[in-house]
Amino acid sequence: MLTFESNVINGVPVEVRIIPNTNKDVRPGYAMTPKYVTAHETDNTDAGANADAHAKFLYNQAVGTTSRVACWHITVDENKAIQHIPFDENAWAAGDGGNGTGNRQSIHMELCVNAGGNFEKTKDNAARIAAYLLNRFNIPVSTNFVQHNKWSGKNCPSTIRATGAWPALVAKVQEYQKGVVKMAATYVRTGGYAGDALKEVHGLLLQKNWGYTPARKSDGTLEFTVGGFTSDAPSQAALAELEQFLVGHKYWYDKFTV
Ligand SMILES: [Zn+2]
Repeated sequence: MLTFESNVINGVPVEVRIIPNTNKDVRPGYAMTPKYVTAHETDNTDAGANADAHAKFLYNQAVGTTSRVACWHITVDENKAIQHIPFDENAWAAGDGGNGTGNRQSIHMELCVNAGGNFEKTKDNAARIAAYLLNRFNIPVSTNFVQHNKWSGKNCPSTIRATGAWPALVAKVQEYQKGVVKMAATYVRTGGYAGDALKEVHGLLLQKNWGYTPARKSDGTLEFTVGGFTSDAPSQAALAELEQFLVGHKYWYDKFTV
């Protein structure tokens, strides 16, 4: 089951909330190798119709008895992105039929258009997520980052289409695709651990879900390289927390950025 690989993707906080596979109309479950990323808009302009609201909606559809055949992989708003369906399973979002390329080979991403939301920020977040997906699955942006319109002729994503914003969105995705590769990350190296100190440090790394690489030293102690912490706010907060912990325990460490 393929999901987002960390809690922050290109600066966007993300949540993985895979819906139950109890209703095949809402989580069909056909295996998929993603070849496209498709952009949609929710067309729900109610206040509060954000990513959380759509995650709840899809969850309720999944566990309920709806006959509505509709689902998608990710919802993006101005604050975050939520994943509902694994990237290696299909979703019914394209309107191009049960065996349609859109319905069977694309990751589908909904952009929220709720009143009171910041649509410019939502589009920026969507571009960051799209860049990650295109890079991760080796999908060409120029031909295979597409609008829902491509699959069924539906006027979706409607605001982006009406305002002529698609070329700018694609350009932004391409910029973030470069950033994905170039994003500098800071690592913390700390070591000399054995016994209770080892348990304590290792326990913290596991509890916080911070990526780390252990190395056994010739004297039998363990060293950890922890990271990479990027320039986004959640990542910097995590780095500060780790440093505070190490200073508080008078454990040795150094930092380096690559
Ligand atoms: Zn759509």
